[in-house]
Amino acid sequence: MLLESELITARDGWGARFRTGSEFLDTYQAIIGDRRILDTPIVQARVNHGRWIADCPFCIGAEMVWFEEPSIFFCFSCRNKAVGEHLLRVEIPRNYEKIEDILMVRHPVNRNWDGETLSALKSENTKAGVA
Ligand SMILES: [Zn+2]
Repeated sequence: MLLESELITARDGWGARFRTGSEFLDTYQAIIGDRRILDTPIVQARVNHGRWIADCPFCIGAEMVWFEEPSIFFCFSCRNKAVGEHLLRVEIPRNYEKIEDILMVRHPVNRNWDGETLSALKSENTKAGVA
């Protein structure tokens, strides 16, 4: 299932090279070999400057998030070496569309979400005078 996002996702970042996480995975496996998608750790998606990203649990890297389920994470900084270069799952919040609706009224650099409640985001909009 491909979720639609108004913000920038990995599909936008990779452009024509890979349109879905599955295409990315197929290419990656063809080059490096079979890799599993591990059940843990799960990486949380967050919004940074209008982009859905996920922070690497092993290093300071971060990658853009695929909005195709299962959303997969592979860090191009450390190559997920801590888990044998296998892939991790990314958790996209179920209410991501509501988060995006609140963020879209902001300038792109101010479109940030890191677990805040919807009411907290709305309050930030009100304080900034963009609601
Ligand atoms: Zn990493």
